[in-house]
Amino acid sequence: MSWDISGMAGWKADDFPLGAVIPDSGNSRDYVTGGWRSQRPVRDEAKCTQCLFCWIYCPDTAVYVVDEKVTDFNLDHCKGCGVCAKACPSDAITMVPEGCELPEVQ
Ligand code: SF4
Ligand code: SF4
Repeated sequence: MSWDISGMAGWKADDFPLGAVIPDSGNSRDYVTGGWRSQRPVRDEAKCTQCLFCWIYCPDTAVYVVDEKVTDFNLDHCKGCGVCAKACPSDAITMVPEGCELPEVQ
């Protein structure tokens, strides 16, 4: 589909065609978006103090927590933004380029 936007400079709000519309909320779990990622978070269990900052700040709710403890990352939805690594006060998260060997952790 293509839109004729030749007169767009003169459009009023009601003249703009509808763009992408998501009619239902809460459907992000239905879509695997981790394929956008170029790097992934790796958590060092020895450094982690279980403060849960990474869980709070992750914009994609991609940090797994079980019994109030971080256990892993949901790589189906983690987009590799690195916010968790930046937010971690213990430097326990390293962002690793996809396709590389995992770093050694104690
Ligand atoms: S890299 Fe970004 S999306 Fe992935 S777990 Fe960390 S904060 Fe969430
Ligand atoms: S922010 Fe860092 S120290 Fe806190 S739970 Fe996450 S990995 Fe562990």
